[in-house]
Amino acid sequence: MLPLIKLNQAVSQAEEKGLFDELNKIYGLIPETSCERCATCCTVPQPAYIVEYLNMFRYVNKVMPEKWPEIIAGAVRYYFLELVDINQRCPFLDGENNCMVYEARPFTCRTYGLMGQREENEQVRKNMEKLAEKYLQEHGIELPREIVEFELPRCDKVRVVNGTNKKPLELIQLLTADLGQLETFFVPVQVVDSQYTFVPYVNHLVMSVVSEGARYRRPRVMKEFLENGRSELLDSFIEKYKRTSF
Ligand code: SF4
Ligand code: SF4
Repeated sequence: MLPLIKLNQAVSQAEEKGLFDELNKIYGLIPETSCERCATCCTVPQPAYIVEYLNMFRYVNKVMPEKWPEIIAGAVRYYFLELVDINQRCPFLDGENNCMVYEARPFTCRTYGLMGQREENEQVRKNMEKLAEKYLQEHGIELPREIVEFELPRCDKVRVVNGTNKKPLELIQLLTADLGQLETFFVPVQVVDSQYTFVPYVNHLVMSVVSEGARYRRPRVMKEFLENGRSELLDSFIEKYKRTSF
């Protein structure tokens, strides 16, 4: 995870090495699709590699730096409340269900709906049950069942409109390997393989912006929210961190 002070340096290094050009080449090979743009898949921010995080960071800095306070507020809110409030959505989704960073959205957002039934649903559910048990035992917090049992519904509305002779799944596997190769610029290949850096953009951003001490108080924020429908502590964090300058 990249600390705040290293973000601009990491962007410059990636630019010098041509990593964003390579990334855009990979994105350009994803079959073009159409869908109903209902934004259901944007309920859960999709995971992204560091190189994609930096690409989105650079995009916001260039195209809409004035949006940072809103984006950071959304990311901080999502991070603290994702396990207690089912209404949280990706902080890049605007009021009209449009993605604010569509041009720079990560690979997983671009390929959603091409991947077929998510094999990992069962594993995700088991992990959530374990997490719920941990929060109950360690913090006395009962996670809402609607969140523990939540599954992103399968989307069958995506249509390939042009692009490939290969089967989409086969192509996506090949491109994922290329993406992993770019990530080795930042972390050793073993770390890439472990998917340690493949986390939602929200988490990348929060790890850069929010101090460890504040993150440590996540259970307290969750408790306050479950008891009162809001958290004064979270409000104070949002006020503080949305003033972050890059
Ligand atoms: S991919 Fe599916 S779920 Fe996502 S916006 Fe398009 S139609 Fe909706
Ligand atoms: S980055 Fe954009 S496309 Fe991806 S989940 Fe967020 S709003 Fe949706």
